[in-house]
Amino acid sequence: MTNNIAVIQSIPILRANDQVAQDNRALLDSRDIFAVNIMASPGAGKTSLILRTIEALQGTPRVGVIEGDVASRVDAAKIAESGTPVVQINTQGGCHLEATMVSQALKKLPLNDIDLLFIENVGNLICPVEFRLGEHRNIMLLSVPEGSDKPYKYPSIFTVVDAIVINKIDLLPYCDFDLPAFRELVLGLNPQVQILPLSCQTRKGVSAWTRWLLETMHTS
Ligand code: MG
Ligand code: ZN
Repeated sequence: MTNNIAVIQSIPILRANDQVAQDNRALLDSRDIFAVNIMASPGAGKTSLILRTIEALQGTPRVGVIEGDVASRVDAAKIAESGTPVVQINTQGGCHLEATMVSQALKKLPLNDIDLLFIENVGNLICPVEFRLGEHRNIMLLSVPEGSDKPYKYPSIFTVVDAIVINKIDLLPYCDFDLPAFRELVLGLNPQVQILPLSCQTRKGVSAWTRWLLETMHTS
């Protein structure tokens, strides 16, 4: 009986998305723009990390931002205040960014004035992993209050990212976050991944993050 149940595979959707992602990547490469996709749970500090990075880089390289959110433009407004070119994508309830959304956003950005593009994905650790956007690197951000057990709950994101930024390390004394155990677990899933603990609040660790970012940008 169960043979009669229709199963629609989502592969064609992903294939169509990958095609647009390749076009985005070609456009970015032709303009010498390096794009970083930032994935995280809501509240991990994606926008704060972008703001701290803009502050630390001091205009070299020149940053641009695509802000993905389910609704609102509060995060984009914060970025715009720093004088950085930003486009807001509202997914109208959608839980991840898709390449076509990024393609639309790229048309609205001053590409000649951008060397490094941050794409802040929608706060979610599951489907953003499946949807390529045209980015050169994938970053996962997580924060100390979320706990160190995410690699058990969401293993796939840990296998695809180039770096994991651990934010809010100023809260380590108050939280149950086992950094050495986390490191061991993550490196078991992805031996190449960079693990970069920092605090957007105190700025500790921010320079190690920007150093890695500039290094990976210049070796791409
Ligand atoms: Mg945000
Ligand atoms: Zn989704």
